[in-house]
Amino acid sequence: PLRDEPVPAERLAALQAQERERFLTTHPASHALAARCQHHYLFGVPLHWMRDWPNPVTLFVRSAQGAELTCADGHRYADFCLGDTGAMFGHSPPAVAQAIAAQAAQGLTCMLPDARAARVGEALAERFGLPCWQLAMTASDANRFVLRWARAITGRPQVLVFDGCYHGAVDDTLVDRDPATGATVRRRSVLGGVHDHHAYTRVVPFNDLAALEQALADGQVAALLAEPALTNFGLVPPQPGFWAAAQALCRRHGTLLVLDETHTLSSGVGGYARTHRLQPDLWVAGKAVAGGLPCAVYGFTADVAARMRRAKEAAPDGHSGIGTTLTANALALAALEAALAYLHTDDSYTAMNRAADALEHGLLERLHRRGLPWTVTRLGARMELQFMPHTPRNADDVRRHAQPALEANLHLFLLNRGVLLTPFHGMMLCSPATGEAHVARLLDAFDAWLAALGR
Ligand code: PMP
Repeated sequence: PLRDEPVPAERLAALQAQERERFLTTHPASHALAARCQHHYLFGVPLHWMRDWPNPVTLFVRSAQGAELTCADGHRYADFCLGDTGAMFGHSPPAVAQAIAAQAAQGLTCMLPDARAARVGEALAERFGLPCWQLAMTASDANRFVLRWARAITGRPQVLVFDGCYHGAVDDTLVDRDPATGATVRRRSVLGGVHDHHAYTRVVPFNDLAALEQALADGQVAALLAEPALTNFGLVPPQPGFWAAAQALCRRHGTLLVLDETHTLSSGVGGYARTHRLQPDLWVAGKAVAGGLPCAVYGFTADVAARMRRAKEAAPDGHSGIGTTLTANALALAALEAALAYLHTDDSYTAMNRAADALEHGLLERLHRRGLPWTVTRLGARMELQFMPHTPRNADDVRRHAQPALEANLHLFLLNRGVLLTPFHGMMLCSPATGEAHVARLLDAFDAWLAALGR
């Protein structure tokens, strides 16, 4: 029998209070650093997101190596957050750390291409399958630049995204879909927004081909910018056949298909598109692409490259609005070269998937044994525990089943037992350095959590 009665709110609140107390008692050094940082940082952290964790004071990191992180109090954690994917190949992968160290003594940034640029371009084309490339510092930057190019070369004003998307700090994409009217609305949490979003961005539900076709039909959409699977609003995989049909619709309506693979690089070597033989017009990756050093890339077809060249040549001289001064600096190129050679490999993914297989199996076995109506959704080395009885189909599905208090409790309970999950959702990512002992630690802590909940 499925045990789908909710955990009583009082029981959850009592457990959360107990776990907060436990965290404070066991983290005096983090507690002291948090107090000092309050004086000079907004919200006591150098980036305010660093407070978006369920622990009562910020966890300060002393060091991170492989699949583990050590906090200021000397506790070691099995890290399944991995910097929200920036460290997907493990913290400080030796090949990348060495390449950065060697380059660091020979120039950090010159606003000229490093001599290894030719080799890196060849490696990008070989690994990700598109012939032409540009770099950016972050995935947010890359997405902003790609949307600018897409509008410039198509002459169309609109972009299309899926409901529940996240593509970084990109105004055009920080929108939601009004469920009543289907209209594009500003995401209410976004600060300082002034754009008239609905004039330039359309939003449709993921996995909905009819809505996609309708949004493309008037020929005003420059680009569909999408993750191959939603990963930032719960993990929502594409339905079988969705992408083949969506790609054909984009082609038919002259809309560029841009795949943002910043997270779905976890699908397999070269990312989801490569693994599933999709043919995007443009392709974006950041975060782990250079092993965790700030760097992002976008690739495109020869046809798109020719159109970009024409657009640039037709524009007056001056600022293009694309690029930043430190982009493609020598350190980034050194890290990218090492990452392409040593991280984006079959060996890495074999190790990542071995750990992910064990974790998925362990979680499912526990859910089945206890009759819990929850789901584990997997995308290569990434998976998510979802408090719902079926794999979600779109963002609304995820919204309907959200249990934020339960999720926050899981995170804090595991953190107190030396396991780090990605905040904001139940995502777990396995690196090549994630071993049996890390997986066992997570599963043991999960057992203890279920017992504490009375499940
Ligand atoms: N694209 C996707 C799919 C992402 O998940 C993110 C970050 N979560 C970004 C872009 C933005 O990355 P960054 O914050 O490194 O710019």
